[in-house]
Amino acid sequence: MSEFKAFSLLPSIIDRVSLKGYTQPTPIQQACIPTLIEGNDLLGIAQTGTGKTAAFSLPIINNFGRNKIAIKAKSTRALILTPTRELASQIAQNIDDYAQGLGLKTKVVYGGVGRQPQVDAIALGLDILVATPGRLLDLIEAGDINFKALEVFVLDEADTMLDMGFFKDVQNIIATLPKKRQTLLFSATMPAQIELLARDILTDPKKVEIAAPKVTIDLVNQSVYQLEKSNKVPLLLNILGKADYEKVLIFCKTKYGADIIVNELESASITAASLHSGKTQAVREQALQNFKDENLRVLVATDVAARGIDVDNISLVINYNLPEDPRNYIHRIGRTARAGKSGVAISFVVENDIRQLTIIENGIGQTIPVVTEQPFHKDLDKTPKQTQKKNKGKPTNKAKPKNRGRSKRR
Ligand code: AMP
Repeated sequence: MSEFKAFSLLPSIIDRVSLKGYTQPTPIQQACIPTLIEGNDLLGIAQTGTGKTAAFSLPIINNFGRNKIAIKAKSTRALILTPTRELASQIAQNIDDYAQGLGLKTKVVYGGVGRQPQVDAIALGLDILVATPGRLLDLIEAGDINFKALEVFVLDEADTMLDMGFFKDVQNIIATLPKKRQTLLFSATMPAQIELLARDILTDPKKVEIAAPKVTIDLVNQSVYQLEKSNKVPLLLNILGKADYEKVLIFCKTKYGADIIVNELESASITAASLHSGKTQAVREQALQNFKDENLRVLVATDVAARGIDVDNISLVINYNLPEDPRNYIHRIGRTARAGKSGVAISFVVENDIRQLTIIENGIGQTIPVVTEQPFHKDLDKTPKQTQKKNKGKPTNKAKPKNRGRSKRR
């Protein structure tokens, strides 16, 4: 029997949740659902993967399903603001699933696709709108949407908004919302700007903090492959030449790089597609769907496009380029070994990456084993270069960095 029955959710929602195969609420759902049904504000420190989408959307669906009202034109009762198109469409899909049969009107809007169908849908009024900041601002400025009837505002992944440079847009959007509303703010971390924003927009919020799912990296078999930069493609083909890896996610730094890798893989008859912001939304969604359906073996993604994507059974994650920081590393390799399964993560490391690798290893508290038995192995000196040596003892007139110990991004 579904433990979700303990919440006062509409029976149809409980049925939908059971159909999705959820038996137990996750900790964040346990903590959020009752208080949100009551209409309280919430500060959720949690990341994607914890079940937060259902945590915030089930109460909204429930409350709107119980209290249906005539929706005003060009307005919405709930706004869910999220940073990427992938997250927006994932959230909207989940909401459509959970809300089936309740007759609620929902819509997702983001850039990169036609505007008019979005304008037409909003014109009739909505119960729930899921949006990314850029397109939403555009619609607000054009007078295609107003928030006179807004009851609930959800700001999802607030720290990612900051990282991606959307903070000003978010503030501008918030300035157009009515003061009287229920507000939910979710963020994986709480940098000072988000702390201030939370203080500003939340009223007496319940605070829920959920540790990042730890399982991820414990169950991942991690390794480093050291090589010359020019051997990256041959090594990739060598690894993928082994049949063991059925569903492979490759992270690389640039859109351009992702497309080049895809070309190389296709030339070697490996089905692959890239996922990055240079592609139209339709192409991105198709690529993701094909990957989920296992019609594609390899997806080559940039960090931003892959953030929060929910794909099961990824057998191998390859860091074609090392990520910027340990958090990102954990996030990437956590795409494999989900739901208690084990997974494999391989990081390509070239000479210039050594410092970054050390930062990652310090951050995750472990040394990642180097696989030397591979055709392109190159010995690299892991001791950091003593670049300061020649200045030893000499006074320096450089000003101390103002921001010591705190990276610019998060
Ligand atoms: P989220 O953090 O909302 O992106 O959710 C991560 C994944 O967990 C998604 O695949 C959800 O469908 C799944 N999920 C959410 N809630 C539950 C639950 N109570 N039981 C099992 N899976 C869940």
